[in-house]
Amino acid sequence: MIDIHCHILPGIDDGPRTIEESLDMARAAVEEGISTIVATPHHRNNQFDNYYADIIEDVSNLNNALIAANIPLTILPGQETRIYGELAEGLDEKEVLPINQHTPYLLIELPTATFPKFTKQLLYDLQVQGYKPVIVHPERNRAILEDPNLLYEVVKGGTLTQVTAASILGKFGKKMQQLSFKLIDSNLCHFVASDAHNIRNRTFVLREAYNLLENEYGAAFIAQMQENAADLIEGRNIVGDIPERIKTKKKLFGIFG
Ligand code: FE
Repeated sequence: MIDIHCHILPGIDDGPRTIEESLDMARAAVEEGISTIVATPHHRNNQFDNYYADIIEDVSNLNNALIAANIPLTILPGQETRIYGELAEGLDEKEVLPINQHTPYLLIELPTATFPKFTKQLLYDLQVQGYKPVIVHPERNRAILEDPNLLYEVVKGGTLTQVTAASILGKFGKKMQQLSFKLIDSNLCHFVASDAHNIRNRTFVLREAYNLLENEYGAAFIAQMQENAADLIEGRNIVGDIPERIKTKKKLFGIFG
């Protein structure tokens, strides 16, 4: 399996603190059947900044440590970039790092509670420049929880999304689990990833999530998710099924209230 969103680089964000903790995470990943991980440290999330060149160097160091420890796992460079107005400039200035360095894909995180007004335009502008934005864990954003069609609008505009394995399993609560399934049902999910931070309370659970999804949607669906992940790290094009609007209760209140 390929995991496209994971905090496994030591000592640079809220992931593992030491190289030993990184190696423990790597062993847990291999045990689940993960062979490739995109390391996606936080950037500009008001707490952590991790720049392009530093991430490349840290990934190289971790890959060397994995070889030395005989752990059969490959780490690719990436970044979880909090959305900000000058993100396009950040790409030009090599502050923002696309997935696997040379692909057009970007992992973009929204703020926890809001859907900034400039989001739709920025995601459009990035695509005009040739980039392919992927919104990470939209099911955890409070504005999208209240109005999932905020996400529909940007997916209709060509943006892709990644739902987190733990959300699918209900580990962040019922609401986020329900929204995860609604997003999948409406063709608003293109990737499933772990967003693992450690092996205590934020571990991989990717296999477990895929097993649940296989029961729910069949083997072809999870094969598609894995194929999308493989295409993403190689920079190949990904075409999702046509996104659908999500029916919300709000509409009903509008009619009856
Ligand atoms: Fe993350």
